[in-house]
Amino acid sequence: MPPGLPRKLRDRVSAGEKISGPAARRALTAAANTPRFEGRIVPRTFARKAAAFLARDGVVLFDNPDAMLICAFKRDNALCEPDPGANAPRQYDCRPGCGNTLRTDTRLLRERAAEIDQLAASAPGPLGRRLKKNADQLRETADAHDSTAQTTKAIA
Ligand code: SF4
Repeated sequence: MPPGLPRKLRDRVSAGEKISGPAARRALTAAANTPRFEGRIVPRTFARKAAAFLARDGVVLFDNPDAMLICAFKRDNALCEPDPGANAPRQYDCRPGCGNTLRTDTRLLRERAAEIDQLAASAPGPLGRRLKKNADQLRETADAHDSTAQTTKAIA
């Protein structure tokens, strides 16, 4: 069985990788205790386990590969507007600026930006400009991580 998200997170920060985001401290605490919930679709069995953990300490970690971040889900401050009583985020509607976010690296952000740049180069007029703007936003997010990320020691 591959190592779960909490273990991956612990291993990465132990190896000196820096992390950023408003949920960084909370996620590190949760990583010590929570199970893995991966992907945008959460099976019913995982949802039940997530509910139990939410009831206990209010935080469950979710990989959000599409948004290129980790979600330290807390329903009360989720910007994706989960239903009352929901025990998982609406990751398909992940929104910038949410207090539940945590990033560990920017490689995927920069790769995605480069891909979008290529699309923009061959797209006409307004579409090309929109794509370029999206790529710039991804790079800004990556730059923000690089300038604010801290080691676990600094966060603790
Ligand atoms: S908006 Fe994104 S980071 Fe915030 S709770 Fe929803 S999925 Fe998680």
